[in-house]
Amino acid sequence: MINRRDLIKHLSAFPLLGGFLGQSSLTTTAFVAKGAARNLAKELGIRTFINAAGTYTAMTGSLMQEEVMETIQGAAKEFMMLDEVQTKVGEKIAAITHAEAAVVTAGCFSALTLGLAGVLTGMDQKKVEALPLLEGTGMKSEVIIQKGHNIGYSHALTNTGCKIVVVETAEELQKAINEKTALMWFLHIQSDKGQINHQQWLDIAKKNGIPTMIDMAADVPPVENLWKFNDMGFDLVCVSGGKAMRGPQSAGILMGKKQLIDAARLSMPPRGSTIGRGMKVNKEEILGMYVAIDNFVKMDHKKEWKVWEDRVAHIGNAAKSVAGVTTEVTVPELGNHTPTLKISWDPAKISLAVKLLQENLRKGDPSIEIMPAENNSLTITTWMLKPGEEKIVASRLKEELSKATV
Ligand SMILES: *Cc1c(COP(=O)(O)O)cnc(C)c1O
Repeated sequence: MINRRDLIKHLSAFPLLGGFLGQSSLTTTAFVAKGAARNLAKELGIRTFINAAGTYTAMTGSLMQEEVMETIQGAAKEFMMLDEVQTKVGEKIAAITHAEAAVVTAGCFSALTLGLAGVLTGMDQKKVEALPLLEGTGMKSEVIIQKGHNIGYSHALTNTGCKIVVVETAEELQKAINEKTALMWFLHIQSDKGQINHQQWLDIAKKNGIPTMIDMAADVPPVENLWKFNDMGFDLVCVSGGKAMRGPQSAGILMGKKQLIDAARLSMPPRGSTIGRGMKVNKEEILGMYVAIDNFVKMDHKKEWKVWEDRVAHIGNAAKSVAGVTTEVTVPELGNHTPTLKISWDPAKISLAVKLLQENLRKGDPSIEIMPAENNSLTITTWMLKPGEEKIVASRLKEELSKATV
């Protein structure tokens, strides 16, 4: 009779079985091997939906380009040295973006942290390991931001141990600069909310010898923004990979001066004992990010814009056909630059709180996400829709608005 020990020995010859799973393990193994065919959303009861809202992290951002997914699949089958992947990809991305150097980070947020880390430490390994404790290290400790730019993402900067100094006028800025000033940070999407424009910011920084960084996370398209700020002379430029570029959602790019990128990489994996060790991007995402940006710059953006506009028109017309509904299309200039449809309704004619409409669209089949605006209005963008989904969004909206007509 076969005893337990022999059985283990015997099973170990079949590593795929690897346990006392008996006959059913064969089917399990076969099933796992075809993992891509599993519908995990269905299996785990996770709601999937039509995204008529936009590139929101809570909604998992954007859907990766087909070529990005193929890249991830291919890269997953080979080992590579992490640093070599970063160096080779960084050279390609830098050439695309007119930067001296670039590195793929775990999103724009980590690009902000790591870029500042590089500014603080330079190539001093002792300083790298000291972060986020700045005291007694000789490192600088202040980052200057305009009041209108201080909207919460600056937490990425305070993660290095630095403190934020808020200014409003050019005069205040000049006064705020001192021997502790590490960086002057600029937020492109809020540039109309600050008194100091890009060029003045750069001029004052240059005059005082202070490095500059710009956050343009959500600010492509236009595609030219990928090199515009490098050309302008910002020392570091940070962008999200998983928004309009449709790269991996957990990837972003830090680009700029080579000296600073080299220094930032000292705080990045594979190096441990760093503040960036937890901000890992692996070869799949790094290569996926490269393919995403490479495709993005080669794409026919005019054609895509027309598709977004046509979808917006289709949805807007359907909504407008309900009495009491008005629509308006705007294009945000600075970021999330895409035709944006605002649908509003007269509460005297349609009795429907936007929260209830949101809930009804969510509960429908297929489920749909929109963005509530005011109590009787919502906004829709169409850049995250799959082809044809605009028809479903249009008819569901029309249905819900008609139902609530008083
Ligand atoms: C989205 C966003 C970020 C964070 O980007 P991730 O790629 O999600 O890390 C930072 N700053 C701004 C202004 C953003 O819109």
